[in-house]
Amino acid sequence: MTTSPLPFDLKPSAHPLPAADREAALANPGFGRHFTDHMVTIRYTEGQGWHDARLEPYGPLSLDPATMVLHYSQEIFEGLKAYRQADGSVAVFRPEANGERFQRSARRMAMPELPVETFVEAMDVLVRQDEAWVPASGEQSLYLRPFMIASEVGLGINRPANEYLFMVIASPAGAYFPKGIKPVSVWLSKEYVRASPGGTGEAKTGGNYAGTFVAQAEATRHGCDQVVWLDAVERRWVEEMGGMNLYFVRGSGADAQIVTPQLTGTLLPGITRDSLLRIASDLGYSTGEVKISTDDWRQGNADGTITEVFACGTAAVITPVGSVRSAEGDWTVGDGQPGPVTQRLREELLGLQTGARPDPYGWMHAIR
Ligand SMILES: *Cc1c(COP(=O)(O)O)cnc(C)c1O
Repeated sequence: MTTSPLPFDLKPSAHPLPAADREAALANPGFGRHFTDHMVTIRYTEGQGWHDARLEPYGPLSLDPATMVLHYSQEIFEGLKAYRQADGSVAVFRPEANGERFQRSARRMAMPELPVETFVEAMDVLVRQDEAWVPASGEQSLYLRPFMIASEVGLGINRPANEYLFMVIASPAGAYFPKGIKPVSVWLSKEYVRASPGGTGEAKTGGNYAGTFVAQAEATRHGCDQVVWLDAVERRWVEEMGGMNLYFVRGSGADAQIVTPQLTGTLLPGITRDSLLRIASDLGYSTGEVKISTDDWRQGNADGTITEVFACGTAAVITPVGSVRSAEGDWTVGDGQPGPVTQRLREELLGLQTGARPDPYGWMHAIR
């Protein structure tokens, strides 16, 4: 196998969006609605390895109807953000960590592993080209969506594909809470499960989402914003929330203890989750990875030992959970408002990501 880095063929668009239209999109980007002028593609063929790395104008793909991903969902993805720094430069939050997780997802889905340095280089190439799409201010960002699909044509299912397409697209993302932080209400899903032991819950693969929209619709029917997933076997251990990991705060002030469900193989190992374990512990909080049941949660809120609950992930960074609904009853988390520990961790993490605070961990990857 080659050890020299894959060369990128740069084919910039002759017709990028006019600056005025781009500025209009950036004024109110929302999430995942606008896409930048370019995309990255890299091909993989069994025997040949990774090849044909390109930056090219953003545009539709042409796929044979028998392309394997369309039938058997051999697909993985990532999500990470580029932030405008206080000095005007641009930096991406922990791209190596996403590159490593992308390799783990690939292994689980029997797909080829893209070298982490190529993954990171793909982000660099795209962000450098579309730098004008990185919003200028604070909590806004450029969301990067790398993904890989089985691109071989054929309906045989006795083996994984032997051809793959890796891509990166980018989309400006607005502040998640433009009107101030608003806690979400959650529905504890007992009927549907997201992942089971031995399944694909730990991999970031589209199929994990396809099966969950029905539960999200159920949550909406019960007046809730989000679904909380429980373990598939006992339906009692809390795993995660929609596409975010969960944290529980016990106690308050400097003595607060901050815990998150342990990685049992059925939940997604979030990079935000991992970052917060580190930040919280460096702020002097005691932290832990635990098993927490729905009874522990309900009891903890009833007797006041659990003071705050929040969810975390790349898209929303940190979202407070304000209330819980389930077939067995409803309750409020604390006073239903964003708690002080939640808000402090959110400010610390966003401060680091936007360059307003120091980065003692070397997590920000500068684009040059
Ligand atoms: C991506 C994802 C998360 C959050 O991971 P981050 O790396 O923090 O963005 C949590 N749960 C699921 C199911 C996910 O797909």
